[in-house]
Amino acid sequence: MLGKMGLRPFSIYEINDLTKGEPDSPRIVSFKMRPKDGQGFNFVPGMFSSLFLNPSDKLFRSYSIASSPTDDHMEFMIELINGRFTSQLAKLKEGDEIFISEPRGAFIYEPNGVHGDLFLAAGIGIAPFFSMLRYVKNRNMKRNIYLFYSVKHKEDIVNLSELEEYKGLGLNIVFTVTRDPENAFWKGEHGRINMQMIQNHVTDFVSRTIYLCGGIKFVKDIVEELKAKGIKDDEIKRDIWGE
Ligand SMILES: Cc1cc2nc3c(=O)[nH]c(=O)nc-3n(C[C@H](O)[C@H](O)[C@H](O)COP(=O)(O)OP(=O)(O)OC[C@H]3O[C@@H](n4cnc5c(N)ncnc54)[C@H](O)[C@@H]3O)c2cc1C
Repeated sequence: MLGKMGLRPFSIYEINDLTKGEPDSPRIVSFKMRPKDGQGFNFVPGMFSSLFLNPSDKLFRSYSIASSPTDDHMEFMIELINGRFTSQLAKLKEGDEIFISEPRGAFIYEPNGVHGDLFLAAGIGIAPFFSMLRYVKNRNMKRNIYLFYSVKHKEDIVNLSELEEYKGLGLNIVFTVTRDPENAFWKGEHGRINMQMIQNHVTDFVSRTIYLCGGIKFVKDIVEELKAKGIKDDEIKRDIWGE
């Protein structure tokens, strides 16, 4: 292990574009990797790791783990925004090495409640929910889950066919598009996720465990609305990334 963060070298074996969409769509890329030391890795769905291109670098960024702890690999879903770190990630090729910290974080999936879960994801905020859903599937768990997932355009939905597959396991999904015009063929919602939209679909939302992930404005607005409905602040699990 390298350094305080417990960095380990991983080998990237697959890189895939997950979105193709409109010119104003995000470019989200999946990076799949395996540890070079052949050892396993422990984490709880929802956690993140920090990625380093070189263990001696000061430059690193944190990313939610999108794979399940039951998988034999780690996957990260990363929006390439051409920033300091993502511009470097964009140059990576299959076979390249990358260094990953010990997984950590308090945003963890605890599938204990009898009343089910409510997952609220905006854009790339969907990444940790893939870890949770894959875990539920791999462990053959029966969970009553509602997922609200907002994207700019319908083409920006990540792994649509995989999400559709989870419907058979008890997943209800409400997709909402924020930039597409009204369209007779679109069966989902329009606009940002808000309390009214949630209530229209999930009458028992108060009794569910609520998990939120997305930009700061999205999370702050929804938390305020949930609190106004009597849900206690410390009962809302959230992961906020920057803007
Ligand atoms: C716990 C945690 C988990 C995270 N998980 C993920 C994840 O799973 N996937 C993921 O993609 N990111 C995730 N992030 C965000 C990630 O850590 C980086 O902040 C992000 O990749 C940008 O890094 P950068 O160095 O390329 O950008 P920087 O050089 O740091 O620049 C960031 C700046 O870019 C601008 N910016 C921010 N978002 C956008 C945007 N969408 N388009 C254009 N400009 C923008 C803002 O001005 C911001 O200040 C996570 C963050 C945290 C803290």
